Amino acid sequence: MSALRFVDRPSPNFDARTRSIDLVVLHYTGMQDAETALARLTDAAPVAGRYPGPWQAKTAAPDAPLARVSAHYVVAEDGTVYRIVAEQSRSWHAGASSWRGVGDVNARAIGIEIVNGGHDFGLPEFPPAQIDAVTTLLHDILARHRLRPAQVVAHSDIAPDRKQDPGEKFPWKRLADAGVAIWPERGSATPAGDTSIATVQTQLAAIGYAVNQTGVMDAQTKAVLMAFQRRFRPALIDGAADDETRALIAALVHAL
Ligand SMILES: [Zn+2]
Repeated sequence: MSALRFVDRPSPNFDARTRSIDLVVLHYTGMQDAETALARLTDAAPVAGRYPGPWQAKTAAPDAPLARVSAHYVVAEDGTVYRIVAEQSRSWHAGASSWRGVGDVNARAIGIEIVNGGHDFGLPEFPPAQIDAVTTLLHDILARHRLRPAQVVAHSDIAPDRKQDPGEKFPWKRLADAGVAIWPERGSATPAGDTSIATVQTQLAAIGYAVNQTGVMDAQTKAVLMAFQRRFRPALIDGAADDETRALIAALVHAL
């Protein structure tokens, strides 16, 4: 694997980290190009008029303030890695989110923004050079912080009711094969006779998803099932607890 090409592009959007690092969150930028995403992620006073796009109403006032956002790294399509916030600082990428029962994900996470138009721009493929760079960067981060592959998650995993990134085109299996993410081995577990939603909810929570244990199929459970499928069964993302989905959930719990 080749060495990373780093470019420093400091963002003023960060504050003090209040927890130790135990998570890496992967995102797509969801904007038209790398320059626009870098501008937004390093803008101390972003306003709507500077970032026109499908994420806001055309009637938004040009001077309407937007949230200040950032990440630690931005990985371009050609594999260039922009360092925008130092790892020891808390960058602002996760928003309202939770994993393994702990919120304020920004306080405990390293955020990586992967340049990709995402759902608003037709879900473009991720170029191999970009995925190679993400993989190398993750190897480095996991080693330095002594994290396991299971501690690399999607933004959609930690905010399933709000977020879809990095999206169903993201090659999680390839990352897992490289040892920097997890993947359920098909056939290593079959769903037990117990097909209850209560069991599915218990298992999803054991993986880390924030799901209230209601015992019934409800909107929050469906949102979490869709997040699970988007990452581990991207061929069909419908939020149904079908046999294959339950087998994959059980296999993942088994592998943790
Ligand atoms: Zn995101």
